[in-house]
Amino acid sequence: MMLKKPLIDSFNRTISYLRLSVTDRCDLRCTYCMSEKMTFLPKRDVLSLEELDQLATAFIDRGVKKIRISGGEPLVRRDLMSLLRRLSGRLGNGLEELTLTTNATQLSKYAKELAEIGVKRINISLDTLNDQTFEMLTRRRKLSDVLKGVDAAQEAGLKLKINTVALKETNEDEIPSLISWAHGRGMDLTLIEVMPLGEVEEDRVDQYLPLTAVRDSLEQDWTLEPIDYQTGGPARYVRISETGGILGFISPLTNNFCTGCNRVRVTCTGQIYMCLGHSDQLDLRAALRGPEPASALDELLDTAMLNKPERHHFNISSRGAAPSVSRHMSVTGG
Ligand code: SAM
Ligand code: SF4
Repeated sequence: MMLKKPLIDSFNRTISYLRLSVTDRCDLRCTYCMSEKMTFLPKRDVLSLEELDQLATAFIDRGVKKIRISGGEPLVRRDLMSLLRRLSGRLGNGLEELTLTTNATQLSKYAKELAEIGVKRINISLDTLNDQTFEMLTRRRKLSDVLKGVDAAQEAGLKLKINTVALKETNEDEIPSLISWAHGRGMDLTLIEVMPLGEVEEDRVDQYLPLTAVRDSLEQDWTLEPIDYQTGGPARYVRISETGGILGFISPLTNNFCTGCNRVRVTCTGQIYMCLGHSDQLDLRAALRGPEPASALDELLDTAMLNKPERHHFNISSRGAAPSVSRHMSVTGG
């Protein structure tokens, strides 16, 4: 493969990681992610399977090595397996990793096929193991489906990482038992600070739990050994001596990590967002549907690199404040 010009932004960061959203729809309504009454995009605005493939290919040709499929909930998109099959053709030929982030409600149906396609690792978002808390948090009764998904994925040989958003009062007391559960099953767990993205019913001040406080509290009972472990993302890791497992911290509010940013995000309608914490975007769909898609896409990717901001500025301090960014996480693909 002839590699075209790599994607390097004006802060000299090489972009090798694409998060591609395949739908803004979801079968859950997590209270920190979505509002109960979300208006979803009309289907005609959403990129077709062929367009998603074409777009992903353009990124791989410019040096993207890792693609994470996200959403909304990626597994609610019917033709997702066909897209993954197509993209897996690039594994070992530019693409090093094809993976996804899922709420796992439908994972038991797809785990085997995902492993056959060449997906090796999956991130599962799970904030509680308690039925009532799950229902309150996601506004749906689906914890047992999620747990079936975890079982099926492990049986299929997929390596799993659990992502848990730390939420004041809601799952605050459950964090140690979630970690023990994940580590007991051989899964790493990463804690994430809630970000002020999109209007939701609750005030972000009532959701936000700084991970500095969580860490202090975990250190009362456990030994957190710093380790030299990196996955190319914003998480910082420790090993918990007592469980032997790995715990990650993604702290967009208390510990800015933008200097090492290696990613961009593309929505299911083909808008590229250069930063999760900014509203600037470029319309790749117009390029895809125009007369010279290949060169138009390349030009837009060059502009995207020039426009990628240095860092995000999230702040959750005052009650009633508008979100830092009006777009929900489910639009950009978390
Ligand atoms: N539906 C899939 C899932 O939940 O894994 C993929 C999309 S979801 C938007 C991706 C990740 O974003 C999840 O781990 C979710 O917990 C996280 N997330 C959503 N809204 C968030 C927010 N406001 N702050 C921090 N994380 C958020
Ligand atoms: Fe859906 Fe994921 Fe958002 Fe929850 S976090 S509402 S599962 S997109």
